[in-house]
Amino acid sequence: MSMINVTLPDGTINEYAEGITCAEVITDALGRKHGCLAAFVDGVEKDMSTKLSSSCSVVGILSTSEEGIHILRHSAAHLLAQAVTELYPGALPTIGPAIERGFYYDFKMDPITEADLKAIQKKMQFLAKQNAVVERIELNEEDLKSHFEHNPYKMEIINDKLEDGAGSTIYKQGEWYDLCLGPHVPNLSRLMFVKLTSVSSAYWRGDQEREQLVRIYGFVEPTKEALQSTLKNIEEAKKRDHRKLGKDLQLFHIDEEVGQGLILWTPRGSIIRQELQDFISFHLRRQGYSQVFTPHVGKLDLYRTSGHFPYYQESQYPPLVEKDLMKKLADEGCSCSELANLMKSGDIDGYMLKPMNCPHHVKIYSSQARSYRDLPLRLAEFGTVYRWEQSGEISGMTRVRGFTQDDAHLFVTEEQIAEEVLGCIELVQIIFNKLGMTDYRVRVGLRDPDSDKYVGQPEAWDKAEDACRSAAQSLGVEWTEEEGEAAFYGPKIDFVVRDVIGREWQLGTVQVDYNLPERFDLSYKGNDGEMHRPVMIHRAPFGSMERFVGVLIEHFAGKFPTWLTPTQCHIITISEKHKQYAQEVADLLKEKEIRVLVDDGDDTIGKKIRTHRKMQPAYMVILGEGEAENRTVSLRARNGDQVSDLPLDQFIEDLMAEISNKESQPCLVPSQPQSED
Ligand SMILES: [Zn+2]
Ligand SMILES: [Zn+2]
Repeated sequence: MSMINVTLPDGTINEYAEGITCAEVITDALGRKHGCLAAFVDGVEKDMSTKLSSSCSVVGILSTSEEGIHILRHSAAHLLAQAVTELYPGALPTIGPAIERGFYYDFKMDPITEADLKAIQKKMQFLAKQNAVVERIELNEEDLKSHFEHNPYKMEIINDKLEDGAGSTIYKQGEWYDLCLGPHVPNLSRLMFVKLTSVSSAYWRGDQEREQLVRIYGFVEPTKEALQSTLKNIEEAKKRDHRKLGKDLQLFHIDEEVGQGLILWTPRGSIIRQELQDFISFHLRRQGYSQVFTPHVGKLDLYRTSGHFPYYQESQYPPLVEKDLMKKLADEGCSCSELANLMKSGDIDGYMLKPMNCPHHVKIYSSQARSYRDLPLRLAEFGTVYRWEQSGEISGMTRVRGFTQDDAHLFVTEEQIAEEVLGCIELVQIIFNKLGMTDYRVRVGLRDPDSDKYVGQPEAWDKAEDACRSAAQSLGVEWTEEEGEAAFYGPKIDFVVRDVIGREWQLGTVQVDYNLPERFDLSYKGNDGEMHRPVMIHRAPFGSMERFVGVLIEHFAGKFPTWLTPTQCHIITISEKHKQYAQEVADLLKEKEIRVLVDDGDDTIGKKIRTHRKMQPAYMVILGEGEAENRTVSLRARNGDQVSDLPLDQFIEDLMAEISNKESQPCLVPSQPQSED
């Protein structure tokens, strides 16, 4: 028998007989309780049962690792399909992938409801306890097809995906099997900790013209504790859902009659947006940005020059045509498709809702002759843009059709790129820190070294990429560089925020651009007297006000810091007698631009507190006999903690300080050991 050398993660090289399995190697190296589900063999994911036929490296894949969780989820999808087909003999499994937080499987079957999930989950747990071994079997084309004859969906996959004459693999557990490339868990007892959560419908291959299927979603974790914590996070995510909180706290409204994906900012939500814009603007001014305003539409010709039309017209609202021209074309009997073609070819012009602010800012740059002394020129605008998202993708404030970017364009010399990118990053850091968003990471998007699609000189790219890297480095947070993620016109930096329950939100970007200055033939006079091309930097680090506020609602779970809270104080009287004092307190607060609301109605104090806490004011200011007599206030915090008899003047002073310091949470009520919630 021939021997092979197996390299282990610590560098040890062991000699084994050819044909040893991954499981045997890992058990030999780590003992029986190794906790691995699968293994990397020379870097490729393989099943534990894989027999090793030549010298290689073997690294175990733990069930807690990213790859391990993926295998667990995918294996649980198989188990779900087995359980469903055993309980519903006519059901046909179609596809069942692992997804970001769990897994799903789509079945052709009669509709079921969430009440049915319990029995399916029980069946899965029963099967997991039986602990069947999961076997990988290679089949030739003919055998493969005979295994799936009864299932037209699997046959469609086989016919579409496999080359003629090619076989594939199935994974078999007990009598049940599924078409799959693997790898999988070695046995079913690994899948004890599953929870099915919901059922919905889906179309075969996402195509509305094809059959409607039943989709079942679930979660799986390696341990009971991990499953409990996942389920708890999901509950918490539901509570924080900005669509729900946005409604409860009256922050925004979406009205079908206005249009899908178009946000109506209500008075309370507008306060949050305005406060944020003021805060961002303050820092932009300090960094030498100039505020500009530009209209919501622009001519098609402008977007032909910029390249946004007709190439991206699928993701834009259709263009508008001038009235007189429209009438003339109609009189000539021009059809809709002819009109579209005339626009596309540039034979007629029209207007478009702007998909980007950049071309407008470019025109402000080129409105004057520029010299090196004008650079960097930093133009900032909270600019509203419109994009045609597919209706299925629209969601709350985070996927919309009209949004206001915290946009700015910097026109810089080659030499200024590094410093300006760094400036953009510093601004982001200040704002994230103030909002307590300390858990974030950045991705630096670089060229694909094997592609030549990029505009601009390679040496210039090297410098710009270095500038992005060192800016990312300067943040002192986790950052990664990703080759091939740069746009064809320049490298970029993306921001991804992780919230308290571990979810990641992609916010905005800082993007270097060699392309638009070229397309618009921008120039400046250098100190050598020659004309040069500037470089543009696009930056909208928070993405859009809609998305950012949506994320902030979830981040704070609706409990905003005082400076962002729509109504900061709800003043509540204990009885009729304190009406006048309440009005006086309210007037004093309003004079200081503190946002207040007075409830001097007849309800009991208990009822008033219950009503007002739903709106999450920073403070409830409770006024009764003692307060009126001594000119004091009693405060109640969101968690129910209270403090009484604060002198009114002191309270106003402290509150103003809290607001102007933008404290991350209300801090005028000391927290007490026992609170209500
Ligand atoms: Zn599989
Ligand atoms: Zn731009």
